Amino acid sequence: MPDFTADLASADDETIREALRHSEVPALLPALAAALRDPSLVPEHLQPNPADILDPNGGLDPVALAEARQLGFAALCRLRDEGIEAAVAPTADELRPLLGYVAAGAPVDHYVELLREELALGEDLRAPSWSLADLAPDRTFRVAVIGAGMSGLLAAHRLRQAGLDVVVVEKNDDVGGTWFENTYPGCRVDVANLFYSYSFAQRADWPDHFSPQGVLLDYFRGIADDLGLRALIRFGTEVTAVELEDTTMAWTLQLSGPDGREEALVVDAVVSAVGQLNRPNLPDIPGLERFTGPAFHSARWDHDVDLAGKRVAVIGTGASAAQFIPPVAEQAAELTIFQRTPAWFLPTPDYHDAVSEPVAWLMREVPGYANWFRFWVFWRNVEGFLGAATVDPDWAGDPASVGELNELVRVMLVDYLETELGDAPDLLATAVPDYPPFAKRFIRDNGIWARTLKRDDVHLVTDRIEAIEPDGVRTADGTVHEADVIIYGTGFKASDFLTPMKVVGRGGVDLHERWGGDARAHVGITLPGFPNLFLLYGPNTNIVANGSITYFSECEVHYIGEVLRYLVATGARAAEPTTEAHDAWNARIDAGNAERAWGVSTVHSWYRNATGRTAQNWPFSLLEYWEVTRSFDPADHLIH
Ligand code: NAP
Repeated sequence: MPDFTADLASADDETIREALRHSEVPALLPALAAALRDPSLVPEHLQPNPADILDPNGGLDPVALAEARQLGFAALCRLRDEGIEAAVAPTADELRPLLGYVAAGAPVDHYVELLREELALGEDLRAPSWSLADLAPDRTFRVAVIGAGMSGLLAAHRLRQAGLDVVVVEKNDDVGGTWFENTYPGCRVDVANLFYSYSFAQRADWPDHFSPQGVLLDYFRGIADDLGLRALIRFGTEVTAVELEDTTMAWTLQLSGPDGREEALVVDAVVSAVGQLNRPNLPDIPGLERFTGPAFHSARWDHDVDLAGKRVAVIGTGASAAQFIPPVAEQAAELTIFQRTPAWFLPTPDYHDAVSEPVAWLMREVPGYANWFRFWVFWRNVEGFLGAATVDPDWAGDPASVGELNELVRVMLVDYLETELGDAPDLLATAVPDYPPFAKRFIRDNGIWARTLKRDDVHLVTDRIEAIEPDGVRTADGTVHEADVIIYGTGFKASDFLTPMKVVGRGGVDLHERWGGDARAHVGITLPGFPNLFLLYGPNTNIVANGSITYFSECEVHYIGEVLRYLVATGARAAEPTTEAHDAWNARIDAGNAERAWGVSTVHSWYRNATGRTAQNWPFSLLEYWEVTRSFDPADHLIH
C-alpha cells in the first residue's frame, strides 16, 4: 500500500511509483533535472507536443509516458537514496534547456528571465532591487494604495519593500477584494490555484485544484498577516476623490471613514487597485423596483434569504451565474434561468475536485514540482491558447470561428455540448453559441451545468425579457414567469473604471470627463495629465484566452516601482506619459485587439465599452506585457 504520509526520505518504491502515475510529466522532468542539475532528464524524444495544449501530459503516448515516469522514478530514488541536496535557484544557463524541453522547440531565450521569476525557486526575484534609503536617504515618499484586494496587497508589499511610506485605504472591513465581496454559493476561481497566487508566496498544499472563494480569501488574509500589511490599511474607509495640486505635484485624497468622518490624506503618488469587476450591473429592464419579493445581485448575495422551497428566477448565464445556479437549483423548489446568450464551456473534469493524495505528495515531496507545475500551466494554458484566438483575415470556414485553430477549438467545444446535452435536444438547441470561442472567456465545467439544466425543477428561458412584474419576470411572448426571489447574475460595470471616485489631474482636468466613457491608459497603468497616478488592472490589462490576473498585477507593480525608482534616483517629483506615447500605445492595442476573436466578434460582452471599443483586453502574449513593464523609459514621459 502506498503511504502518502511518508516524506521522500522514508517513502517506499511503491509510494513513489504510485505518486508518479499521477504526475504531469512536462512538470516532473524539468523539476528533477533542475533539482539534480542533470539535463539528461529532459530528453528531446520525451518533449511535450506543442499542438496538444489540452493534454496535461503534452500529448505523450503511453510508451513515452511510461519511459518518462521511469526516468522520474530513478531520479527520485537517487534523491532519496544518495542523500543529494536538491539544487535551488537554477541559473539562466541551467534553465535554458529545461525551458526548451517544456516549450518543445519554441524560441525560448526571451522567456528565460520571466521563467526564473515565475518559478521563484529559492529567491524572490521580483522584489525591488532598490530602496529609498539607498537612493535618496533624506527624502520621504508617501504612496496611497486604494484597495486591499489581490493587487492592492501586492502593491503595498512591494512599495514598502522599497522603503516607501505606504498607506492603504480599503472600503471593506477586511482584505481580499473580489474574494471578500463575492460570497455567492459555488464561487471559485477559474484559473489553476498554483497560477492564481503570487510568485513570491506560492503554496504547494492547495486543497483543491481550483480554490473556492473561502480558501482564496484565507490566502489573501494570510498574506496580509504574514507580511504585516494590516498595519498599513485603513479599513472601512472609502476614497471619494483624488485631486492633484499642480504646483507641488502632491495628491490629496478625500476619505470617508467608517463613522462617516471626512478626512484628507496628502501623498506623493496614488496607486488605484480598485479592480474592474466590483460595481454590480443591474440590468436596465423596466420594472426592476416593482418586484415584491427579495432580489439581489450575485456580488451582493443576501444570505438572509432562504431559497429552500422558493421559486427562484436567475437572470444571466455568465461566469458568476454558472457557478451559483447549480447550488441554487439544489435548494429552490423551482428555478427559472433566463439566458440571453449561451456561453462556451471548457471541459474541466477536476474543476470541483480536491487535490488527490498522490498529487499532494508530489507537490510536497518532489523538489520544485509545484513550481514547475505552475509554469507548465502558464505555458500551455496561456501562451498556448493565443494562437487559437487569432483572426485569420482569409478564413473562409465556419462563420462562427475566426481561423483554423479557432475552428478546431470550436468543434471540440460543440462536441462537448453535444456529449453533455445530446439526450436533451431542446436544451442543446439553445446551448451552442453562434460566436467564436475566445470572444468571451470560457466557463469551466465538469458536467454540472448540463446536469442542472436537465433537472425537472429547472427551466431555461431564452425569450427576451420585457419587464419585471411584481410577481415575476415577463418575457416578450407575454408570459409572466412567477418567482418568489430574483437573483441577478448580470455582471459588472467593468467599463466604468475608477467610478464613482472623482479624479482631478493637472490643470483641473476631470479624468472621467477626459475619458468620456472610453478609458485608456499608457501600458494600462499611467495617464497623460495625471502624474504619479498609477492604475492596477487598468484599461486593456484583462486577459480572455487564459492567464492569471495576478501575473499582470506583478508586472504592473514592478513597472510602478521602476517609475518611482527613477523619480527618487533623479530627484524628480512626478512623471506622466506624453500624449504621443499614450496614443501610440493605444493605437497598437486597438490594432492587436482587432486581430483577436474578442475584438472582431459582435457578441455582447463586458470587454467593450459604450463606444464599442475593446477597452478591457490585452491582445498580446504575457511575455510581451512582462517585457514592456520591465523598465521605465523617461523619453516617453514628462518629468516634473
Ligand atoms: P458577465 O460575464 O458579464 O455575465 C452577465 C450575464 O448577465 C450574461 O449572461 C449577460 O447576457 C446577462 N445579462 C446582462 N444584462 C442582461 C439583461 N439586461 N438581460 C438579460 N441578461 C442580461 O458577468 P459575470 O458572470 O459576473 O462575470 C464577469 C466576469 O467576472 C467574468 O467574465 C470573469 O472574468 C469574472 N468571473 C470569474 C469567475 C471565476 O473566476 N470563476 C467567476 C465569476 C466571474 P449576455 O451574455 O447576453 O450579455
